[in-house]
Amino acid sequence: MGPAFETEVRVPWSQTCWTRAAAYVRLQTAAEVARALAIIKETGTNFSLRTTGHNPNAGFSSAGDTAVVLDLRGLASRELGADGIARVGAGNTFGEVYAWLAEHGRSAIGGRDQQVGVAGFLLGGGMGAFPNLYGFGADGIVNAEVVLADGRIVNANAQENPDLYRALKGGGSNFGTSGTVDLSIGIVTRFDLHTYPLIKTQYTINLYSPQDYVGIIDATVKVQEAMEKDPKIGSFTNFNAQFVAVGLLYADTPSERPSAFEPFWDLKSLITTACPTTEGTLLSLAQTMRHEETDGKRRICSITTRVSRELYEGIYQLYQEALKALPEGYVLHFTAQPVGTAAVQAGEDHGGNSLGLEKIPQCWWVFTCEWPNERADAPAESALSFLEEKVEALARERGLLLAYKCANFATGHQKVLRSYGAESLGRLRETAARYDPEGVFQRLQCGGFLLRDNV
Ligand SMILES: Cc1cc2nc3c(=O)[nH]c(=O)nc-3n(C[C@H](O)[C@H](O)[C@H](O)COP(=O)(O)OP(=O)(O)OC[C@H]3O[C@@H](n4cnc5c(N)ncnc54)[C@H](O)[C@@H]3O)c2cc1C
Repeated sequence: MGPAFETEVRVPWSQTCWTRAAAYVRLQTAAEVARALAIIKETGTNFSLRTTGHNPNAGFSSAGDTAVVLDLRGLASRELGADGIARVGAGNTFGEVYAWLAEHGRSAIGGRDQQVGVAGFLLGGGMGAFPNLYGFGADGIVNAEVVLADGRIVNANAQENPDLYRALKGGGSNFGTSGTVDLSIGIVTRFDLHTYPLIKTQYTINLYSPQDYVGIIDATVKVQEAMEKDPKIGSFTNFNAQFVAVGLLYADTPSERPSAFEPFWDLKSLITTACPTTEGTLLSLAQTMRHEETDGKRRICSITTRVSRELYEGIYQLYQEALKALPEGYVLHFTAQPVGTAAVQAGEDHGGNSLGLEKIPQCWWVFTCEWPNERADAPAESALSFLEEKVEALARERGLLLAYKCANFATGHQKVLRSYGAESLGRLRETAARYDPEGVFQRLQCGGFLLRDNV
């Protein structure tokens, strides 16, 4: 195989996805996507969809040697309408979208890492820096151009195909009715996104000593409580073996640092300031939070709970247990991502999404294990299985477990669509049946969060 093929094999962010597909097909227009889909349908070829390959679940945006990968990065158009709507090809990254929009003095709601692709991020819901102010990424979609299995290129918005529009907002590319593999309703080739006047931000990233986990958890909860009153507040707390990284984010540039963050300024366990208080934009924040591209495998897991200091401390203790069992060379960390009532309300205000969230303060946890390719997968898998089982059990026991699992942070076996609740799942199923009655996607797409696994 030539160098272009080898480059394609190595696109995914996690080496768990560096499998060799039968072919990689680079597509640049919606018409080309429709043509590729027609050939796939005619020949009964298995396929996967890929933009940046940031999803670490094997088979989601990668494939083995009996299937093809449709590489959609060539769908890179960008157009800002006089109506303030940003029309962006599905192959863009949020770094590209932020930078381009900033030239026009505008912002759209995207990810906190500049390399993440527009398509997977938005279709999985999309956790940005300020969910309480703007809702999730998917809530900012005003229209999507979708190639359906029958080759039609349709628009999905509040007026045209409204059921498809709602389904796409968090329903992912991978949902369906039944079948042996899985079903996607269609391939999104362009997203039309709501924009705002350039969003100014102020952010600080501090590293604390994990020995002070009780104090750090207390401060994390206090900041989340403050979010209920001030939706401009965003934050994350990322627990590692040697340090705890805390991001204190504000969607404005006040002359004084917001008092809501005081619980963190008061902690004596500060090791260092990784990013001093900086005034910037969503782009500079995403550049600051850029993850180093290092070779290695990754596995992730999503759990959602209510807010509780005692629970968080219990989760930290379970993390310590999992750490102790891991051999050297494996990195295990987890992140608390606070979501407030206003974030869920924003979804409703934007016409509703598929996520089925409860309108209460909550924490979207993501557990991550990273390890070098040459080491065995089993210790990483068992660390994450341990955490998934024990954290859920602990939260359930205390009446603090929420059903929701975030597609963007979930491991392949998690029942993401079922976690949206019966009503949302039923709607997704009906929509899938209406837009792909032949079940082309369910027979032929390689991987994803499957409705057949979510019965
Ligand atoms: C370093 C890093 C930082 C991250 N930061 C955030 C964050 O801040 N917030 C957040 O919510 N998530 C975040 N994520 C998670 C990320 O949003 C998901 O991994 C997402 O699936 C990536 O989408 P992608 O298009 O970049 O990747 P891909 O792996 O190419 O695609 C992901 C999924 O989307 C499907 N898909 C891709 N393109 C299309 C299309 N055009 N039509 C239909 N289906 C399609 C694929 O089949 C695949 O299942 C982060 C991930 C990483 C690795």
